Formats: sequence, structure tokens, C-alpha cells
Amino acid sequence: MTKASLTYAKQLDAQDPLRAYREEFYLPVQKNGKQHLYFCGNSLGLQPKRTEKFIQQELEDWKMLGVEGHFHAKNPWMPYHEFLTERMAKIVGAKPIEVVMMNTLSVNLHLLMASFYRPTKERFKILIEADAFPSDRYAVESQIHFHGYKDGLLELKAREGEVLVRHEDIESIIEQEGYEIALILIGCPNYYTGQVFDMKRIAELGHAKGCVVGFDLAHGAGNLHLELHDSGIDFAAWCSYKYLNSGPGSVSGCFVHERHAHSPDLPRFAGWWGHNKTTRFNMRHAFDPIPGAEGWQLSNPPILSLAAIMASLEIFEEVGMPALLEKSAKLTGYLEFLVNNLEGNRVNIITPSNPKERGCQLSIQVRDADKSLYDAITEKGVIADWREPDVIRVAPVPLYNSFEDVFRFVEVLKECM
Ligand SMILES: *Cc1c(COP(=O)(O)O)cnc(C)c1O
Repeated sequence: MTKASLTYAKQLDAQDPLRAYREEFYLPVQKNGKQHLYFCGNSLGLQPKRTEKFIQQELEDWKMLGVEGHFHAKNPWMPYHEFLTERMAKIVGAKPIEVVMMNTLSVNLHLLMASFYRPTKERFKILIEADAFPSDRYAVESQIHFHGYKDGLLELKAREGEVLVRHEDIESIIEQEGYEIALILIGCPNYYTGQVFDMKRIAELGHAKGCVVGFDLAHGAGNLHLELHDSGIDFAAWCSYKYLNSGPGSVSGCFVHERHAHSPDLPRFAGWWGHNKTTRFNMRHAFDPIPGAEGWQLSNPPILSLAAIMASLEIFEEVGMPALLEKSAKLTGYLEFLVNNLEGNRVNIITPSNPKERGCQLSIQVRDADKSLYDAITEKGVIADWREPDVIRVAPVPLYNSFEDVFRFVEVLKECM
């Protein structure tokens, strides 16, 4: 049987041990009543059906208990964020003391930079990817300016005529400029190309030169095999509404390496939720940060949002990252096969072909295309993402996308090209 057939795709679905999880999610529906082909889980993950129950529980407890819910809700609000820590830590390969869910992503980048970007006259540069996500770039530039420096932005660029950054170029920029770099802050994978960087190697190189090393894992958490603790990086942050399916604008995750867990003197912006839990309500003590990532919290967190994260993490716990990643590699590999199998040579996948250097997203460049191609596939029910000038980003998400979705998407693309 040819691999490029609907029958073959359906056979792959029949053999997929995670196929039942598609039913755990709401798939968006078109005006004509048919389901969309949804490939945008890298921007906004779909709603798990069980999320409603978790949020309903908190609405009910708030209704019945008022302020007493902080202690007497079914899941008391006071320690609510702690209920998420262990499962979240497992997904990113961290120890519980290294992880906390709080705030939103760009806010957390700033809070972490308040502690981990400590520029001096000799060393004030920040190394980021040339095509970093805009918010990260704004955050980093504004930090440099905030500290009174300029021209501090160092960009990791692909070579002329290439799209991906070469590992040897990362090594040489750190080798050459390392002593002037205060902070390395890179998105992994890069949101545009889907390229995954060797975090452990970058941490080693950066640390050897005295740089602090952080990562933005907005596109990595719930999508990649991560070993944050063992990678040795200093800090990381990610959002929970992309691959972690916790709803628009939901609360972000933070990682601070254990080696910083017991450093109360590390400069930071403080708030009561980061203060020693036993004296938090005395309201009089000098700030005494909780050891570990929790010590970076400011405010009591939005419980309705944490409830959605709780629902999502329950699914990740049931499935487990190993099974998820196994399906992810197969699903994305199938998409890659079908796209490369298209006739003519108009399409070029810019995401690395090595499965270890990518997650589930493929960025597909279409020669001589403009946005009308994207509009045409949208018209046919596909939800994907268009990046000027000619790239369609497609993320088949292993929790809810099927091999049949992938097959149908490539059929639509073929028709519209
Ligand atoms: C999605 C994304 C963001 C979004 O930031 P918010 O603060 O959650 O709005 C930031 N950085 C990267 C790399 C992203 O992919």
C-alpha cells in the first residue's frame, strides 16, 4: 500500500496507542459544521473536555465558601500552585524545587532578568536569536536600556543564504564574545524555524565564559524531550497555552536551577507570595524568600487559570512524555514524508530534518507563494499559521491530531498550490 494514501493514514491511526486522546479535546468546527483541520497547537492548544469540570469546581467553591476557599476549597487556593509543580517539573525534566507556575511569560522573562541579567561596564551584552519572538526581543532590549546601556544586543544569525543557525557558529560567537556577554537567552525551539538548540552544550560554553544562560521554552514545554536540571541552564520560562493546552493567556511556567535555590541574596523583585509560607500573613517580617523557584512569585495566582493547567497536566500525566514524543516523531515524520513527496519542487521544509533537532512543528516554505495560498487553505478548513514572506507553520500535535489530519492537510495544500 502506498504511504501517500488515506487508507495508509487511517491504518496508522488505527495502530496509534494515543488515538483515544483526540476525543478528550474539542476540535474547532467550521461554519458548515465540519471539523477544522487544526494545526495551530503551537499558538493556542485546544481545550480539553475535562477543563470545564476543573474550573467549575473553583467557581462552585468560590460561590459556596468565599474567602474560606483559600483553606477549605476542595483544592485549597492557598497552596493551589503547588498541586501543579510535580507534574510540570516532570514534563520539563526538572526537580520540583526548580519549578513554579506564575504570571505570564513575558512578565516572567523580566522578573528572571531582574535576577539573572546583572550587567557591568565590561560585560553587558545579551545574546539572542536573530529571529527571536518579538516579545523576547523587546524584553531583552528594554532590559539593556533600563540598565543604561546601548548596543548590547548580540544576534545569533544564520549564514547568508541559510535559514538555520549552525552549531559551530553558536560556539564561535560565545568563544569570541563570551567575556562581554552577560546573558544568553534563546528560544528553544525557535518559534519560526522550529530549530531546537543543544541547551546543555550552550550552557557549558556560556558558563565557561562566565555568562548566565536562560531559555524561552514557549515552543518547547510539552513538545520536546527536556532535561532542564541536567542541562545546567540557569533559568527558563514558558507559557502554558501553546502545547500545554491551558487556555488563552494562561499562567506561565518558570524554572530556576537548583544551584540558585538557596540564594536569598540574589537580587530580585519581591512580593508576598514569594515570602516564607509560615510567616507570610504576619505582614511585618523582612522579605524572606521561599527557597527555589517559588521565591520568585509576587502575587497570589489566578486560580481559574491554574485549574485549567491542572486539567491539562492530568492528561500529560496519564499519557507520559515518552509515549507523547514517540507519537510526535511519527506524526511529524509522516507530514514531512507527504510534503517532500509533493510533485514539483516548490516546497521546502526549513525545519531541521533530524528529529532530534525539532519538535512537532514543520515550517514549510513555498516558492513563489504569497498569502493567497494561505487564504486558500484556510478557506478549505485548515487552521495553520502564515509568516511573511512565504512560510506556513504547521504543528501536528500528538495529543489530538491524527495521521488522517496530516494526510488531509497535504491534500488541501496540493490542491491549492
Ligand atoms: C508565545 C510566545 C511568547 C508570548 O508571550 P506572552 O507573554 O505569553 O504573551 C513569548 N515568547 C515566545 C518565544 C513565544 O513563543
